[in-house]
Amino acid sequence: MLKHFASDNYSGICPQAMEYMMQANGMDGIAYGDDEWTARAADRFRELFETDCEVFFVFNGTAANSLSLASMCQSYHSVVCHELAHIETDECGAPEFASNGAKLLLGTGEGGKLTPESIEHLVTKRSDIHYPKPKVLSVTQPTEVGTVYTLDELAAIREVADRYDLKIHMDGARFANAVASLGVSPADVTWRSGVDVLCFSGTKNGMAMGEAILFFDRKLAEDFDYRCKQAGQLASKMRFISAPWLGLLESGAWLSNAQHANDCAQYLSQQLQQVEGVKHIFETQANAVFVEVPEPVMIAMRDKGWRFYTFIGAGGMRLVSSWNTSKAEVDEFVADLKSLL
Ligand SMILES: *Cc1c(COP(=O)(O)O)cnc(C)c1O
Repeated sequence: MLKHFASDNYSGICPQAMEYMMQANGMDGIAYGDDEWTARAADRFRELFETDCEVFFVFNGTAANSLSLASMCQSYHSVVCHELAHIETDECGAPEFASNGAKLLLGTGEGGKLTPESIEHLVTKRSDIHYPKPKVLSVTQPTEVGTVYTLDELAAIREVADRYDLKIHMDGARFANAVASLGVSPADVTWRSGVDVLCFSGTKNGMAMGEAILFFDRKLAEDFDYRCKQAGQLASKMRFISAPWLGLLESGAWLSNAQHANDCAQYLSQQLQQVEGVKHIFETQANAVFVEVPEPVMIAMRDKGWRFYTFIGAGGMRLVSSWNTSKAEVDEFVADLKSLL
């Protein structure tokens, strides 16, 4: 068995997604998204978000972010995001590539969150024709360091966005975990908070693969199907992305999976707070725990077979839980760590 707190994409397919995948496989279906499963999943998203949004399905998060950002701006525009944003640090320049050159402007803020001041600073820094015009604001919810924007924080961001006529993009690679953490409706965290486009990940929530892109501002979705096709993101057997999505939505597993992952992260965080020599780097608000431990201890944990990421600098461990993390795994991890400290 793989021992890990590496990422939620290390986990397999959850039963609800698998069951609908099998159902979809029980009969042939129309190709390229003109099937019943895709229509039903899109309707279900509109129900869940309480609005008549446009819904598209693509294979992965990098494509979802890049293609949706490209549809929100022109090549001479810029996208404001946090310096730790996945679109900046982990997409190999895909947003710039897909948009034919739109520039990312990097903002700052504690805990991976953009502040209104930082956004305003970037947007007002230049207004001449020699600099790409700011057009989009991208927020990651929850952030790359496992914190969650509150509704008040989103409202403050929206106020700046409105003032400078910026569209709002939300990278929801772990969107369900943010909803579970805040205990509010999906609509409240998105379009009611001014979000124009949401990339909602199914992969990290328990599917084999697949992301939904929701355009709350339908105008931005014009010809988006062509953009997906050109980018190689139109699944010919789309029903095998949309059917498992329907499974997550109809069963409620999208939220219970996220709640379970969040609970495991809280449990892990609490256990680690009692271990001397372990220091939390960020607050645990979703399904990731960030702690600092001595470098030799991290190496020894790896020698014991544990996998985790350490991209946040020397001594920093990122521990991510998912829909199938168990309390026993948390206990084993904490016991191993304790034995080394
Ligand atoms: C995982 C992740 C993505 C998507 O990554 P892919 O590997 O392209 O599916 C996007 N944003 C964030 C914050 C992520 O954690």
